[in-house]
Amino acid sequence: ATPVFESPDAPCTPSAPAGRLDNTSTPYYAEAVSVLKSVFRLTSFRQNQLEAINATLDGKDVFVLMPTGGGKSLCYQLPAVCKTGRTQGVTFVISPLVALIADQVASLREKHVDVDCMSSLRTADDSRDVMRRLRSERKPAICYITPEKLRESNAMQDILAQLYEDKQIARFVIDEAHVIQSWGRDFRDAYAELHMLRERYRDVPIMALTATANKTAIQDIRTRLGLRDPLCLMQSFNRPNLFYAVQPKPSTKKKVVQSIAGFVKSQHAAHTGIVYGFSKVECEDLAAQLRNDYGLSAKHYHAGMDSQERSTTQEEWQSGSCKIIVATIAFGMGIDKPDVRFVIHSTLPKSMDGYYQETGRAGRDGDPADCILYYAHRDAVSRHHLIISDRNDKGLARTPDEKKRQLEDLSAVAQYCRNVADCRRSLILAHFNERFDSHLCPKGCDNCSRGGTVFRQLYTLEAQQAIRLFGEMAASMDRIALGHFKDVYAGRNRAKVRESGHDQLSLFGAGKKVDGDRIISAMLDADIFAIAREASASGWTNDYLKLGPQVDACLSGSLPVELTFRDNGPSVGQSRSAAKNVVSSKPPAKAKGKMKAGPSARAYAPLFEDDDE
Ligand code: ADP
Ligand code: MG
Ligand code: ZN
Repeated sequence: ATPVFESPDAPCTPSAPAGRLDNTSTPYYAEAVSVLKSVFRLTSFRQNQLEAINATLDGKDVFVLMPTGGGKSLCYQLPAVCKTGRTQGVTFVISPLVALIADQVASLREKHVDVDCMSSLRTADDSRDVMRRLRSERKPAICYITPEKLRESNAMQDILAQLYEDKQIARFVIDEAHVIQSWGRDFRDAYAELHMLRERYRDVPIMALTATANKTAIQDIRTRLGLRDPLCLMQSFNRPNLFYAVQPKPSTKKKVVQSIAGFVKSQHAAHTGIVYGFSKVECEDLAAQLRNDYGLSAKHYHAGMDSQERSTTQEEWQSGSCKIIVATIAFGMGIDKPDVRFVIHSTLPKSMDGYYQETGRAGRDGDPADCILYYAHRDAVSRHHLIISDRNDKGLARTPDEKKRQLEDLSAVAQYCRNVADCRRSLILAHFNERFDSHLCPKGCDNCSRGGTVFRQLYTLEAQQAIRLFGEMAASMDRIALGHFKDVYAGRNRAKVRESGHDQLSLFGAGKKVDGDRIISAMLDADIFAIAREASASGWTNDYLKLGPQVDACLSGSLPVELTFRDNGPSVGQSRSAAKNVVSSKPPAKAKGKMKAGPSARAYAPLFEDDDE
């Protein structure tokens, strides 16, 4: 059973049904294989590449959905240098990022592919040269162009019209095609006008490629580009050889380093990996400690380093002389090291999209690799406050839209981390609108490793009691610290609780029998509660609980509060010491059967201990 996508509604040729379409018996196959080897110096096609190449050489429209790093470029670069099939003329590639264009052009030139580009990075002279070549007999095989250049340059429009008349346009390729959606985050005006390609150059086949697998988005892209009965090649985003886990983040920096070092030394002593940190300073500190205190071969990498230093570090890591790179997310674009055995996030990633891409750099060779995320509620709260503060990381004012989007991203990541029951793989894939049967993830993530079956339980009543308890407490207390509220709700009879007299309230301990802390987290996720953070005079920050916008919906019962559990997983209220004894072994899904060692034992602690104190 392969995971399935929600099927798009518009007519679309299904992706190569088994047995019907033999991609090795097409007239293009022999040349495609030979070009793959001679020009691209690769040995075999990845999933869907050959299908895309065959279809476009056949003059068909093609829609390719492939995760980032999946190998979309080859789908259009290879046919552009073939001689059989629909190859006459220039392949025009519309791509939104000038930096990406520059990379691809450089890499193609290294392979002696005749390629040119038109972007804002080029001088007017350069552009004139490119246009002169397009008019001449010596046309490039591929011409990259930004949508803006395509729209703004009248000369370019004239050239395209002439080329079309002379049947010298092989195909149009729309890379990062999701940019066309008007409601998308990366939307660019000029992409919206790409529908003119089909209108003006009716017979030129179009290939659209994206890594955004959202049903509505796919539909939208196809309609906007006017794709005609396209071959839709959509593949699962699942990475079966990656093991996903979320670890409770220890309370001090020192313990975090200790935990990371311990994990690396016990599981990946001689392996290459990436540790993602939040800030430049954090990365430098973390790398230094891993080096100095634990003797690990670690170096930092971030955008604040000069480019010479950056490329030296990257080369050392790439060649294996440095094993661990501790980096901000500036590290990764264009990284293609096959044998990355672990990716550790020392703090929350910015979004689920980001998490997928960052963890996606592990295990490209198909061998097992670990993806570990350290989560602490305090990190989520800090991030929240960073976002609602007025400046973004570039020091620019955040727009309300930007804030809203970033808060949504953060909330999705936090919910993922707090989920201790559902299969991580299905949670990640659900983010890309892909349904994934968690039975296909036997022990491929921490939650599945816990065994048992997932069940959900409603705690709306308990949530309503929490709101009432909050009301009772608020009658005698100005600001209610989050930790204090949790103690009172869970009925923890601490000195501070007794001092406040809150142990005398009728609802004291209302969340005692259930998992009170998780209910509060779920209520925070659902905006029933919210957090206000205040800096105290001593420089510490305090988190106070307040009511959120959804409080009435919860009280009226229209917004149910639900938790997921595993029926024989570790009970979440367990103490830290009891939790340490929970050990599950996992042999990650063997992708190519190349895994050497047997199952390695890993310890998982429940996530909902109080890490806030
Ligand atoms: P995408 O655009 O889908 O994110 P790219 O086209 O940039 O991905 O390719 C990612 C990496 O995969 C590149 O380094 C490329 O060389 C490599 N790659 C692509 N196709 C193959 C293949 N058939 N075999 C091995 N490596 C490949
Ligand atoms: Mg790409
Ligand atoms: Zn799983």
